[in-house]
Amino acid sequence: MPKKRRSRANTKQIARERVRILWELARERALENPHLAKQHMADARRISRKVRERLPVDIARRLCRGCGMVLIPGRTCRVRVRHNRQTHVAVTCLSCGAIRRFPVRRQR
Ligand SMILES: [Zn+2]
Repeated sequence: MPKKRRSRANTKQIARERVRILWELARERALENPHLAKQHMADARRISRKVRERLPVDIARRLCRGCGMVLIPGRTCRVRVRHNRQTHVAVTCLSCGAIRRFPVRRQR
């Protein structure tokens, strides 16, 4: 591997692509091999951290914050719409039981 010859922008671009690829792999494997899927996402996090970026929002919100599991409704997580207080979607990770809540904004 050549050392540090890529520009910073290029490095970030490559990092993002790798994160995408790992995400796709993790999603494909989430059901048959959750452990491997978690491993992929741990790698993705490490890559993001290296270039000082966060995981893309669309990926981050489909991962369990507790255990890093890929959240697939009806398979690895339970999704419920709750109407107590503010209407929100409660996502329960079936792997570790962590609950995440996403507020629902009604459009009028
Ligand atoms: Zn979890």
